[in-house]
Parts: sequence; structure tokens; C-alpha cells
Amino acid sequence: MRKIAIYDTTLRDGMQGIDVSFTLADKLDIAHKLDELRIDYIEGGFPLSNEKEASFFEQVAKERFRHAKIVAFGSTRKPHGKASSDPQIAALVDSGTPAAIVVGKTWKAHVLQVLKTDIEENLAMIYDSISHLKSQVKEVFFDLEHFFDGFKDDPAYALRVLETGTQAGADALVLCDTNGGTLPADVARIMSGLPKERLKPLGVHMHNDCGTAVANSLAGIDCGAVQVQGTINGWGERCGNANLCAIIPNIVLKTQYQAEVARSLSELTELSRFVAEKANIIPDKRQPYVGEAAFSHKAGQHADVILKAPELMEHISGDLVGNERRILLSELAGKSTIIKTMSRYGDYDKDSPEVASLIALLKARERDGYEYEAAEASFDLLIRKTIKRYRPLLQLNNYHLESYKTGDTPSKTVGRIFLTSHGKQIMGAGVAVGPVEALDRALRDALTPFHDFIKRITLTDYRVRILNPEEGAAAKTRVFITSSDHKDSWDTVGVSENIIEASWEAIIDSFEYYYNNLED
Ligand SMILES: [Zn+2]
Repeated sequence: MRKIAIYDTTLRDGMQGIDVSFTLADKLDIAHKLDELRIDYIEGGFPLSNEKEASFFEQVAKERFRHAKIVAFGSTRKPHGKASSDPQIAALVDSGTPAAIVVGKTWKAHVLQVLKTDIEENLAMIYDSISHLKSQVKEVFFDLEHFFDGFKDDPAYALRVLETGTQAGADALVLCDTNGGTLPADVARIMSGLPKERLKPLGVHMHNDCGTAVANSLAGIDCGAVQVQGTINGWGERCGNANLCAIIPNIVLKTQYQAEVARSLSELTELSRFVAEKANIIPDKRQPYVGEAAFSHKAGQHADVILKAPELMEHISGDLVGNERRILLSELAGKSTIIKTMSRYGDYDKDSPEVASLIALLKARERDGYEYEAAEASFDLLIRKTIKRYRPLLQLNNYHLESYKTGDTPSKTVGRIFLTSHGKQIMGAGVAVGPVEALDRALRDALTPFHDFIKRITLTDYRVRILNPEEGAAAKTRVFITSSDHKDSWDTVGVSENIIEASWEAIIDSFEYYYNNLED
């Protein structure tokens, strides 16, 4: 069956997305991670755009990539110029990458209004740029910007653009839905009408403005595309690019097409989270395949089926993509869910007194405002306390926070903490802008000399919910914290009328969960 090349543009188009930014070191780390997964092409950026982009290409030239080819991105030469003396075409050659991609116009309106040149000169620009590059760079791809909109406007001209790319020797003609406004049926209709036998192989580059970028990409592949472009987590301009984290498993698990990346499919979830961590963006829980919720089930009728016959309630098994099944806990949880969760500590059944006392404890906690569905680490500590398998990390003697602000200078908080850990009296101090961070720093200051693992834990997300806002300032606050040791992540919860107290509970749960489970 046809082989599909996976082309990643996270480091170029992905970085056009809101909130997405990477340092040079991040870009290099991501490129190596993509290479480990056998992504076929990695678009590194536009070498002439700035210093950081240029240094990326300098650096990758010195590094070894096992599978992936790094691609430099640029556009066609200037109107009425020469490709051989165009500085940005020269930058593509100078980047020394095994492949380059050139973007050119397909939509007449863009040629006339944006390039401000005539449609014949546009074809000459495409021909010169690609044929010149082809004499210098091993593989050259042609991105047909606004292909689908251009085709709808004037199919004959769009076809001439495709033919020009073919005659100039491009290795693939990549059809772009730059504005993301095309639907899958239009992609199929337009692509199935192309005279593919007269053209170089096709690729697709879809944007998600209609929420159909993944569907459009698959439609394009079904119509003969051999290269699919997209980004990790679907990040990109406006609503994003086609999400490779969905396209890859769809190709591997749901079609007959071949892809190199199939061999490392089980590392896909980790890749998605790795890239999110580099961008300091909270991963989207509801993302297909790789999201935390993709294989999670809420208690009730379905959770019961999940325990008996999981394959009946999931379209694939999560471990194929490196994800895992989660059963969400709540007071609605059936006994069977709780027994299943406890089973890692021993054989418990519905008559075990530990099960009864855990259910009673869970109900009381939920009445107080705790919620364990998204705080399985705090729930694990409840189980350990119930079955007497809990090792406390510390005993608090007291903490003390002082916030101050002078004139127009930013506020500061100083925190001090006194505690007992393994029979020793210890203390710590920390300064930060806000009280929760000052407390976290003071606690780390106290514990780190005795527990090296504290250094590995970072707080990756902090969420606050006011439970009864009608109470005004006396309202209860629920805090959720997500922590990570860069391998695993876990969630904890705290509840109090005092936000610092609620945060303290969630932080302590996080450290104690790690201490009880993961450290050894
Ligand atoms: Zn794009």
C-alpha cells in the first residue's frame, strides 16, 4: 500500500500559533524528539527571518539526525528578479539542509493584490525559484499557497501553477488550504479531478478554521497525496494546523497506508506532552488519542462496562499510542470502581471493611468540596491512609507569610516554615511575588537538603475554583495542582476557605504522593 511521508511544521507554522514560542534550545530538542519518532521531514523555519532561525540551521548542520530530513522554508524569488541572486533563495541553499520548501502563489487575487505583479510573472517566479533550487538542494518541495481557494476561483490557472511546479522539477506539490475554509468533500472533489499522471506527487497542508483539518488531510491522502503536513498538537495560526497527533494514528491504525512513524506510535502521547512542556502550554485534555481524557471514563453504567469489557467502550486501546485508561472517581462511583482502584494494594471485595470506610471517607470529603476525579494522586493518599500504607513526609509546626508593598514597587511575599521530618526539626524560607509561591519555596528550602527528589518535582498547573461564590470573601476555594517530574504527572486537590491553606494541602499531597509511590 502507498507510503505516506509525515512532514512536521511545528517549528515553523506551529510557532505562528497563539501562545506558542520556543527558544533555540527547545527547537533543537523538539527536532531530535521528532527524529526519534521517525517523522520523515522537519521544517525548521525560515533561515533569513531572524538570528534565532539562522542559528537553528547552523546548529542542525552539525548534529546527526537518524531518520528525519530537516527542511528550510522560503518563498519564490522577487518579481522580475533572478533566483540565483535572490537573497532568501540563497539563504535556503546556504542552510545546507537536505531539503527545501518554497511557497508560491496559486490564487490570482493574491498575485495581483499582494505580490502586485502579473500572473505570468508569478509562474516565472515559481519556475525559476524551484529549478534553481533543484540544482543546489537534493529535495525541493513546492507549497502552493491558497491552492484550494485559487482553484475555486480559476481552476485553469491553478492547474498551470501545478504544471509549472512539475516542469521546474519539484519533488512534491503541496496543496495548501491556507485560510482553512475548505471542507473534506471539496478537497476530495478538487483533488480527484487533477490530472495526477501529468503531475509530480502531491502533498497536503491543511488549516483548521472549519475544524476539519484532519479530515481534509485524510481526504487528500485518499485522493493520492503522498506527503501530509501538520503540527504536533495541531498548533498553528488562528485555529491551528492539521494535528499530526490525530493524523498519524488515523493513518497507522485506521487505514492501509504505510508510514515510517508506525514503528514508534506508542511514543506519540509522550511526544505531544514533551512539545507542550517545551512551549509551556497546558496540554489539551480533550485532544483525540493523546489527551488525558481520550481514554478516561466516568463512573456509573459505563465504568462498569469498562471494568468488564474495556474494548467495548473504546475505539482503540490507549496503549497503542502510549496513552492510558483512567477511571474517574466520584461519589457516584460504584463500589466496583473503588475496589478496582484499591486492587493495586491487595485483594479487597465488597465486604472488606476498608472498602466501606474508604467510601464513607470519600463521601464526607466530597461534601466538604473535595473532588477526586481529576486528583487521583490525592485519592491514592486517601486509600493509603485507609489501609495503613501511608508514610507521612512531614509534620507542620507552623508557617508564616508576610506580604508587603511599598509605593509603586511590585508586591513581595516572604514565607517561613517550621516542620518536623523524620524526627528532625527543620526550617525553610522563600521569597516570591505571591504567597502560594513563597510558601512552596519555603517548603522546598526546608525539605530539599533531606529529600533530593523534591528538586525533580515542578508545578505545571495551578487551578482555583470558588465553590460557593454567594458567600463572598468567606467562600470555599478548591485548588487543583498538576505536578510533574518530567516523566510522569499527577494531580492533587485541596479545599479551604483560605486559598493559601487549600494550596498548601494540594502541594503537600503532591510531595507525599511522590514520596509514597514514585520515589522508590
Ligand atoms: Zn500553513
